Amino acid sequence: MQTLTVVVPAYNESAGLRAFHARLAVVFDALDLACTVLYVDDGSGDDTWAVMQALRAGDARVATLKLSRNFGKELALTAGLDAAEADAVVVIDADLQDPPEVIPQFVAAWREGYDVVYGTRASRAGESGTKKFTSAAFYRVMQRLSQTPVPRDTGDFRLMSRRAADALKQVRERQRFMKGLFAWVGYRQKAIVYQRQARHAGSSKFNYWRLWNFALEGITSFSTVPLRLATYVGLLTAFAAFVFGAFVFGKALLYGDAVRGYPTLLLVMLFLGGVQLIALGLIGEYLGRLYMEAKQRPLYLVDALHPARREPQ
Ligand code: UDP
Ligand code: MG
Repeated sequence: MQTLTVVVPAYNESAGLRAFHARLAVVFDALDLACTVLYVDDGSGDDTWAVMQALRAGDARVATLKLSRNFGKELALTAGLDAAEADAVVVIDADLQDPPEVIPQFVAAWREGYDVVYGTRASRAGESGTKKFTSAAFYRVMQRLSQTPVPRDTGDFRLMSRRAADALKQVRERQRFMKGLFAWVGYRQKAIVYQRQARHAGSSKFNYWRLWNFALEGITSFSTVPLRLATYVGLLTAFAAFVFGAFVFGKALLYGDAVRGYPTLLLVMLFLGGVQLIALGLIGEYLGRLYMEAKQRPLYLVDALHPARREPQ
């Protein structure tokens, strides 16, 4: 029988994890696959790990993995994907925003021969207008700047075939913008539209500051266009300076040169100073990431791994 593993990263999700597993178990029962779920505890501070152990005790299809500390969702996911060996691997959030009931549709598309089947959100229940707006803006910028087309309104919720998951395993970069990496893998991909639910319990771990950093991560790891931007801004200012110089020169020839223009001088200096600092900051963003990458530290550390008692056959 073919096997399916569902990878669930969870950070302080004890409030909703049981409800999540109950719904997932119903989906598993209806699938004619040997299903297992791998819960990844991303260094939770609450009793998420204890809940996972309880779930594992009550259901032979549950495997649990605990990281040594909180590494962030992207790395928790990576740890889960590294450990999952099934023919198809599904990635889903623990907060029931991605309904497990969509998984059979993913499986059906996978059986049709698709390697990556991802969920695209039709609605974003329970999310503010600002969040909807900023995320739409982000996808637009990404689309413009990067060679890898990142599908819009698509989270991490998806199914990957064995070879797609293996391909992803080979990507060991530290700057892990998963949405981009999933797209980078390529192969035959298919979108399944679903209704994104409001969080079942607990609260989102992503505030705007984190989302901003996430967006920076996405752009810097998939595009070097911002670096080139500095060149263009430089060229533009140089050209403007040339035109302005010609104008000043002509004016001095025609009308003579009284000592004036102190405010313009200051303006130009401040403007150029600002542009230079921005360009430096940009280079710094990339340099910093290069530095982190160059250290070659392991991506995450595992504290404990308990396999499913019923090994998928
Ligand atoms: N998560 C994680 N590590 C973190 C933050 C989040 O494993 O450091 C998990 C979290 O438990 C959830 C998923 O990632 O299962 C999505 O997180 P969240 O719901 O907070 O994000 P949002 O849906 O608001 O984007
Ligand atoms: Mg969520």
